[in-house]
Amino acid sequence: MARNMFRRSIYKTPAQLRLMREPGLATAAALEATKGALRAGITPLELDAPAEAAIRDRGGRPNFMMEPGYRHTICANVNAHVVHAIPTDQPLRPGDIVAIDAGAEIGGWHGDSAYTVVVPDPADPKKTAALQELSRVTEQAMWHGIAQLARASHLNEVGDAIAKYVHSESNYGILEDYIGHGIGRSMHEDPPVFNYPVRGKGPEVRPGLVVAIEPIIAAGGIDTFTEDDGWTVTMEDGGASAQWEHTVAVHENGIWVLTASDGGASGLAPLGITPTPIP
Ligand code: MG
Ligand code: MG
Repeated sequence: MARNMFRRSIYKTPAQLRLMREPGLATAAALEATKGALRAGITPLELDAPAEAAIRDRGGRPNFMMEPGYRHTICANVNAHVVHAIPTDQPLRPGDIVAIDAGAEIGGWHGDSAYTVVVPDPADPKKTAALQELSRVTEQAMWHGIAQLARASHLNEVGDAIAKYVHSESNYGILEDYIGHGIGRSMHEDPPVFNYPVRGKGPEVRPGLVVAIEPIIAAGGIDTFTEDDGWTVTMEDGGASAQWEHTVAVHENGIWVLTASDGGASGLAPLGITPTPIP
């Protein structure tokens, strides 16, 4: 990805934070449109059009299409596929675990979000429950990371909180090949947002910081490889993974989850954090 000649501040102005609300809501609407349609028998490709329509209806553009060579609104990561999977025409089957990732650009500003869902398999409730637990832990890991952002003095505390939660709840592994990121005028910006402890504190958490927090958790090994299509990333051991992602802004009165229609209120309430709208 091309870099600017000069280093842009990672901290946005209050006016810039306000401009990030619309692409955040368009991203939320795109994912909501896929959720409403996702069931056994539908193909990931059929989920792409409603996601695109939701973004265009709000005057936005699907930002994944702004990546050279990518022609879709969503990535649809089914079973052993982890990230960046091109939506296929293979119907979803009972027992599939599916992560849908999408983003929108409006007025030059970006949103990015993902969720995971399990297509229930009535013939194998045990497998369904195990995959749902993987998704639950991953979603909660994301909320713990977001809650930590609200309290943190430095960004790398987010990864500490995510890892602490995952290890307290499970024997799952946290992928290290893919991490969260700053977001603003580009979908992927500095700073990196680790999902696990790293050396160093990272940048200061203060008003103007906007990051995508997106843990990817695996039931087995954490190693991945990229398929011959140049996009689809797959687990080495063929195991399942789950991904949840939100774009979150730090502002002068607190935090606000830009890609959640309620600003993250329902996800954060059990963790004692109340998001505050961007002033
Ligand atoms: Mg994403
Ligand atoms: Mg992202």
